[in-house]
Amino acid sequence: MATKKALSRNAAIAVLIIAVGAQIFTMCKKKTDQVPPPSGGQQQSAPQPNSTGSIHLEMGVPSGGSSEPSYLLVRKQYALSYNGTKNVPNWVSSNLNASYFGATERKQGQFMPDPELPSQFYHVRHQDYSNSGYDRGHMVRSEERTASREDNDATFYTTNLLPQYHDLNAGPWLRLEEFCQYLAQRKNKELYIICGGIYPKNYQTIGKNSKVAVPSQCFKIVVVLQRGQGLKDVNENTTVLAAIMPNIEGIARDQWRQYQTTVDDIERQTGYDFLTAVPEKIQKAIESRKAESLALAK
Ligand code: MN
Ligand code: MN
Repeated sequence: MATKKALSRNAAIAVLIIAVGAQIFTMCKKKTDQVPPPSGGQQQSAPQPNSTGSIHLEMGVPSGGSSEPSYLLVRKQYALSYNGTKNVPNWVSSNLNASYFGATERKQGQFMPDPELPSQFYHVRHQDYSNSGYDRGHMVRSEERTASREDNDATFYTTNLLPQYHDLNAGPWLRLEEFCQYLAQRKNKELYIICGGIYPKNYQTIGKNSKVAVPSQCFKIVVVLQRGQGLKDVNENTTVLAAIMPNIEGIARDQWRQYQTTVDDIERQTGYDFLTAVPEKIQKAIESRKAESLALAK
């Protein structure tokens, strides 16, 4: 019977949701465990609830992606998936609105090994980047956590870093960060940001004691909502910015919009499913188009 079928399908979805939720809960609770890569990838059919309770994972925990040993690290200031083979974050996810900007000055001195990263992982040091030719590229920008000393310091953990060429870091990447700041402060938007790197099979590495992978490209996804809005407010008309930028020299003057793409493109190139807490039908709509809203033009 159709009703019976629907019932058992609903039950199956419910079990799936509980299973995924329980897995995420376990991942967060047992801090010393390595996180097995979630399965399902882009084929998932049920939205995955954010069981971590973190505002930084409001749009869901990315699934699929790297099969290398990874660790989900959730702190007050942001959340990330750390890759124990590449010694970089797979992705960093963070909420942003005007309240995150304050008067705290940028931390002086070196980047710090992350005390929240379990001991079996290599703890990247400031010096691993020294004389490498690459900048220590913040994923969550220092300026985006200036409401307190503690918040700003948290952006200086090496788990929040990727090696970026200066021309990228101070070029189109910075311009997209500045656009996010403009949206948060001047347009009173609520942003949910996910960013990270894309790696070729034979990626470059830097580092003295251990190898830190160098991404060939960096991606960024920005869900743009009104201040105070969250997951339940995402619909098929929601603006989502997406960009993939090459990690090369010679692009210092480029605009970020030159590198605008779709979330689908980023999912294809990273193997991750992003915005997993958003219902599939809405994901389909907002991940397949480039945001072109004139209202957002700076
Ligand atoms: Mn930067
Ligand atoms: Mn998705």
